[in-house]
Amino acid sequence: MSIDSRTDDLASVVRYALTTARAIAICPFHDNVTIRVGDDAAETHAYVRATKVIKSDGTAWEHKALHREINRQLDEAADGVCPDCAALQH
Ligand SMILES: [Zn+2]
Repeated sequence: MSIDSRTDDLASVVRYALTTARAIAICPFHDNVTIRVGDDAAETHAYVRATKVIKSDGTAWEHKALHREINRQLDEAADGVCPDCAALQH
């Protein structure tokens, strides 16, 4: 299971970096909904931040894996608005 736990670690590092750089936000009303802010600078900042966290952690993640995980989480996030909130406004 070591591969899975490493993947989880990378996912949580990326999530932390994206959230703190404000590249993604959690909907204040739906904490299971992640929203992509759509800020290129914030996304770059998140990548730099994740790289630093990983380095300080001593884990040798491949940059390719990091990029893939960042892109995966950005793809999964809702674009700009929370779909659940948007649905409630109808
Ligand atoms: Zn919402």
